[in-house]
Amino acid sequence: MSRGVIYLVATPLGNLEDITLRALRTLREADVVACEDTRHTGQLLRHFEIDKPLVSCHEHNEARRAGQLVSRALAGESVALVSDAGTPAISDPGYRVVRAAVDAGIRVVPIPGPSAVITALSASGLPTHDFLYKGFLPRKKARRRAALTTMEAATSTVVLYEAPHRILEALADLQELLGDRNVVVARELTKIHEEFLRGTALSIRKELVRRSVLKGEFVVLVGPSEEIKASDDVSLSTRVGQLESEGQKRMDAIKQAARERGITKRAAYASLHRNAEADS
Ligand code: SAM
Repeated sequence: MSRGVIYLVATPLGNLEDITLRALRTLREADVVACEDTRHTGQLLRHFEIDKPLVSCHEHNEARRAGQLVSRALAGESVALVSDAGTPAISDPGYRVVRAAVDAGIRVVPIPGPSAVITALSASGLPTHDFLYKGFLPRKKARRRAALTTMEAATSTVVLYEAPHRILEALADLQELLGDRNVVVARELTKIHEEFLRGTALSIRKELVRRSVLKGEFVVLVGPSEEIKASDDVSLSTRVGQLESEGQKRMDAIKQAARERGITKRAAYASLHRNAEADS
């Protein structure tokens, strides 16, 4: 382990087996572990039989702590920063510490591991080649609706974090403002009751309303607007034909159809060529 470094250590989202060997070694060797909640991280460290001095670094003291942690690193200590779950600085404290470290010329070393955004996206079945992570939607209704409206024309999959007590409201606004998009709600990732609900915002909301208790943590993924037109049962050549009939040049139509399917332009050409040969 290097001295005078700040390590950003990702921790499990729920399943303790998801801790990495490198994360464990970094936590074991650090001089100090900065964490959102000393009780929560204390439990995690005890589980792995790691005994370390802990200091809190949460949204209310991060600005002040950032300077202190950087001073410790400048004095030669190795500082590990963790959040309650997942990757620090991703909708969690960490950004200010990293910024202060970068400004002070301190090395910042990420120790990668779980993050709900990537975990949910990878198994969502929505296009993964181009996505927009928006974190938590604003709490105030008007601002939340304004934020959703800006996603109307998004050609990327949009990934949002949502709290259990706001999920129904968010899905209602999603349905009203964005219509029948393909939506996936990932709940309790990596935990015993992990599930992926797929459908429209309306159908998923209905399913959640049917349940008497709404618990857990949620990631909401919204398919791109183009995806409605580019449903999987439309073959590549049909889709290219559709786009050409809408006035696009063939080359542009192939490019767009390829992008919608998450394949390269070269792969799309090859597939169209193979199909044309098979048909002749
Ligand atoms: N830093 C974390 C990360 O890398 O994903 C995110 C922390 S943010 C404060 C917490 C939010 O992440 C939750 O409200 C939920 O939207 C999402 N999240 C965290 N763990 C999750 C899980 N196990 N299943 C689904 N969503 C989760």
